Amino acid sequence: MSEQIAYWGYPTNILLASGCSAEAVAWCGKAGRKRPLIVTDPGVRALPWFEKLTATLRARCPDLVIFSDIRANPSLDEARNGANFFQKGSHDSIIAIGGGSAIDAAKGIALASQNPTYLEQFEWSQAMAQYPTLADYPKSELPPLIVIPTTAGTGSELSREAVLVDTDLHIKKVITHAELLAFCVLLDPDLTVGLPPGLTAMTGMDALVHHIEALCSPLFHPMSEGIALEGICLIAQHLPKAFADGSDLSARSGMLTASAMAAVAFQKGLGGVHALAHPIGARFGTLHGLLNAILLPYVMRANRNAIEPQMNRLARMLDLDGTGFNAVESWILSLRNNLNVPHNLHAVSLTENDAEWVGQQAVADISSSETNALPLNAEQYAAIYRAAVRGRLEDVTPF
Ligand SMILES: [Zn+2]
Repeated sequence: MSEQIAYWGYPTNILLASGCSAEAVAWCGKAGRKRPLIVTDPGVRALPWFEKLTATLRARCPDLVIFSDIRANPSLDEARNGANFFQKGSHDSIIAIGGGSAIDAAKGIALASQNPTYLEQFEWSQAMAQYPTLADYPKSELPPLIVIPTTAGTGSELSREAVLVDTDLHIKKVITHAELLAFCVLLDPDLTVGLPPGLTAMTGMDALVHHIEALCSPLFHPMSEGIALEGICLIAQHLPKAFADGSDLSARSGMLTASAMAAVAFQKGLGGVHALAHPIGARFGTLHGLLNAILLPYVMRANRNAIEPQMNRLARMLDLDGTGFNAVESWILSLRNNLNVPHNLHAVSLTENDAEWVGQQAVADISSSETNALPLNAEQYAAIYRAAVRGRLEDVTPF
């Protein structure tokens, strides 16, 4: 066999329509299942539309049960508890409703429901080493997932990964399995109209960072690159509108689409923004999308020498005034400003005292730093972080 230069695995059934979340039980049926468990979080469960949706779903499936015993950053233990609940109820499929936390918990429950040790066995780096392609995974008969995202940002609805907290070690673990890709993703803009402007902005910026980091990753993946370019155009078109008027269904649909596309784009990898945001978020609890939104221009400036070709293409795609890096940077700064995103990390109570620690942790964040446009070291990450705390973009010199 010739040397493998790339491996690409691609998505699943995706529906986009106002009200399509009502089809969740029907999609369980298409998967040959009759006893779904709804997995959600307490926040989503309390939203005004939730009861109406579950009443509609119960009309087709009277025994429908809801599991919502999870926190904002779900843990491995919560996934195990959910798996017990799943087994005791003899469920055969999962309908995940919510943002990244609920969807990741649902994936953990799906994996642990077949075997509690799977949560360790399919830890990301171990699984990637053992199963280089999707076809190499053992057949685990995981229950099919029907996923209904209620924010437009994480992309978890279309990824095969879940982030779960190991409460003993105080770290976030990533698990992955070929069968964790949803059987069907239902993108229903009606469910996102109530998302407040601040959360709309932060989750939307997370999706933007996913696309930009994927576009700038040095891996060879032209399909993902094309998706990233188009995804950025969708965000440019729809995020300001969704922020200004949450009831704009066309803008909400555009953002749900762009967010889902981002999970496909970042098969090409993420970069330094996520490498920095992961450890900071794990330690200080700062919102992931907010951190990404603040950090993006600082990391882009550090990467500048390696990403000029991508920025030239992006500036043309977005039809910006000016060319290349400078035009894209101005666009991002003005978008960020219009969405009321602060320009510095000091505004979210972070200080330069932690710079050394952040730098070391960012380098250790293999999933992100290995696919950053440039191989940055701990000192360089620390320097980017310091500049971001001060809000001095001019202090970042391209490496
Ligand atoms: Zn992200």
